[in-house]
Amino acid sequence: MMQRVAILGSTGSIGANTLDVIARHPDRFEVTVLSAGSRVEPLLAQVARFKPRFAVMADAAAADSLAERVAAEGLPTRVLSGDAALDDLVAGERVDTVMAAIVGAAGLSSCLAAARAGKRLLLANKEALVVGGDVFLQAVQEGGARLLPIDSEHSAIFQSLPEDPASWPHRVDRIILTASGGPFRERDPQSLRDVTPEQACAHPNWVMGRKISVDSATMMNKALEVIEARYLFGLPPDRLDVVIHPQSVIHSMVQYRDHSVVAQLGTPDMRVPIAYGLAWPERIPSGAAALDFSQLAAMSFESLDSKGHRERFPGLQLAWDALRAPSGTTAVLNAANEEAVAAFLDRRIRFDHIHRVNVETLDAVVPSKPQALADLLALDASARRTARDRIARLH
Ligand code: NAD
Ligand code: MG
Repeated sequence: MMQRVAILGSTGSIGANTLDVIARHPDRFEVTVLSAGSRVEPLLAQVARFKPRFAVMADAAAADSLAERVAAEGLPTRVLSGDAALDDLVAGERVDTVMAAIVGAAGLSSCLAAARAGKRLLLANKEALVVGGDVFLQAVQEGGARLLPIDSEHSAIFQSLPEDPASWPHRVDRIILTASGGPFRERDPQSLRDVTPEQACAHPNWVMGRKISVDSATMMNKALEVIEARYLFGLPPDRLDVVIHPQSVIHSMVQYRDHSVVAQLGTPDMRVPIAYGLAWPERIPSGAAALDFSQLAAMSFESLDSKGHRERFPGLQLAWDALRAPSGTTAVLNAANEEAVAAFLDRRIRFDHIHRVNVETLDAVVPSKPQALADLLALDASARRTARDRIARLH
């Protein structure tokens, strides 16, 4: 049966990889909605190629300009703008599957809309789950949605787990997330204060958007992923581990009660988890190269407690701290980090200030158990105000 897919954040790195996989399977997938933030040209090119029923831009002026171009080229697509329009579309009848690939908390509302409407929800947008937490999970459950992880680590874990989620807590001993260590794995921690956005965005194994690239350089990406794993797989924080594995061949592992370890391996190519999410429980060609074991010189591992990693990547510990703190704390951490990363990319603060902004914001903002989207948005806004204030003082 044809799956009708909405791709949110279609012009980004995950969005483009999703379209690449979909284009290989015109018999299985039809793109009905494409959506992006504010850049018109890349979305126009995708609209011309995939001819979706709808294209949505977050920015109203950009949507107007896209609408003119779409009309001028005689394309059949209707152009809309804003969050509410996007939420209605993803929840509506023309969509079976939603690829959530907007970056940041900006994607939360559309994720919740897809969850409540019981869609097949492919989650790349980890920040939405880190912010949404139990509210997000409740929407998934109440809506009867099927939540499938796209983050390569979580896809690996999902592929390594037994089918029945009810069996996870008693069969599984630990979940072990692998981390490449990013571009600064071997760098002197003292010298990190001077790194530039260009250096931070030059990831050794993956080509990604700028925000997640900076998060990989601070290892806040792994912190967000530990929180994401907590919500996706339901294991308590003390049974979630991180090990540095620079080659990014093992994408993550599950250690069982008997200490048998099941891992998922592959070349570092996001089309593998994307194809898995799109086709689950089936398997389809993804376009990724096969792993060539004859060329694989070695796989190595480093403990977080070795080689100065705790000093180099102080933000990673915040994941466990935030998970043990009152609910809503992970939303505060995410908001602070989004603001700090944006400020670093704008050259308003130094690289090592990102951690400082995160810690100071966590200290200052005390959440009161968020129950609904409105509470989460208010908490997110309040944490952002605090983070911006701290950033202004550092600047
Ligand atoms: P990106 O910056 O390349 O793309 C982001 C997309 O979101 C763009 O299409 C942009 O137009 C859109 N967007 C931004 N702000 C928006 C807004 N306010 N409203 C609507 N759309 C908006 O980012 P990416 O690397 O593709 O990452 C997307 C998400 O997937 C992130 O949450 C990231 O953590 C996650 N992820 C990415 C990778 C990867 O390999 N790139 C891997 C795992 C997880
Ligand atoms: Mg990941």
